[in-house]
Amino acid sequence: MKSEVWVFAEQQDGKIKGIAYELVSEGRLLANALETKLCAVCFGHGVEGIEQLIAYGADKVYLVDDPALANHEEDLYTKGLVDLIRQHRPEILLAGATSLGRSFIPRVAAILETGLTASCTGLEIDPESKLLLQTRPTFGGNLMATIICPEKSPQITTVRPHAFKRGELDKSRRGEIIRVDFDREAVTSRTKLLHLLEDLTERVKLEEADIIVSGGRGLGEAENFQIIAELAEVLDAALGSSRPPVDDGWIPYPHQVGQTGKTVSPKLYIACGISGAPQHLAGMQTSEIIVAINEDPKAPIFEVATYGIMGDLFKIAPMLTAKLREARG
Ligand code: FAD
Repeated sequence: MKSEVWVFAEQQDGKIKGIAYELVSEGRLLANALETKLCAVCFGHGVEGIEQLIAYGADKVYLVDDPALANHEEDLYTKGLVDLIRQHRPEILLAGATSLGRSFIPRVAAILETGLTASCTGLEIDPESKLLLQTRPTFGGNLMATIICPEKSPQITTVRPHAFKRGELDKSRRGEIIRVDFDREAVTSRTKLLHLLEDLTERVKLEEADIIVSGGRGLGEAENFQIIAELAEVLDAALGSSRPPVDDGWIPYPHQVGQTGKTVSPKLYIACGISGAPQHLAGMQTSEIIVAINEDPKAPIFEVATYGIMGDLFKIAPMLTAKLREARG
């Protein structure tokens, strides 16, 4: 049997983050393909939701519970994870391409002298070599590269939030929670956490929204965002954007969807005046239903759209808003 597949299950404020459940769901498929166990590793203090990691597919959870690990202290997390990996030698490690994952996972890979593929959007086990095929966009999203790490282990990958869907929760699944001691005194932290600042991007809960109405350069100017903001309001939707309106200062960066913005996967994504460049699609193409409003019949967004409305958004969006208002009384 191959050695285990591991998922670093990130927590914040004592709660497991959504990305951890997405990774456990994907890790389950990889572990099945390798006929091995799936383990989640969680660092924190008094973390809630550990059992859910098992319900989403983990066979074991290594829980390192210590007050020193309550917040993201990179040197402590690095040392803790490196020690665990050296002890148990997993085959694969998946972690979120979050601000924490992007920062400390490369340190872990460097110390272990192994490879890391960052911000993957596709993972698969090669049926012959049993290696992890790690796919990610490259050259500005114009090319998909599949990367392997045949000579070193573990094979380490970070994955952007929402790149994979969360699987079904199965509360009848049984697994082991293994508590691991952490020797705080054995680690010298080069940083000291003074206080936490609120992340402004967290105010715009794009990643959690069921419906997103997004606007692009086709809106023409900042004031016209009001037109799609009204559509968003009637649908209880979050407001998204392609990159040009952000670059032009029409709307703040936390609203940007795409390769250099947020990755979202809502039930409904309405793209208004967005052409559908690869860098935008990279952030929204896993949405369940995509509605595109665009006046150019050749716009690439129509290739991924479930429903395409060809025409002038300045007429269509207000008509939709009025109809929906009417329908909702
Ligand atoms: P355009 O491509 O200009 O499209 C505007 C569309 O509006 C056109 O299709 C037009 O037909 C339509 N339109 C115009 N008027 C109307 C009207 N009245 N009614 C209906 N339709 C109308 N982009 C992102 O979005 N997110 C990213 O994270 C991102 N990251 C990038 C990273 C890199 C490294 C690079 C190089 C680029 C990145 N981009 C990103 C930019 C990306 O390449 C495109 O330039 C961008 O997505 C285009 O935005 P848009 O569709 O709003 O504008």
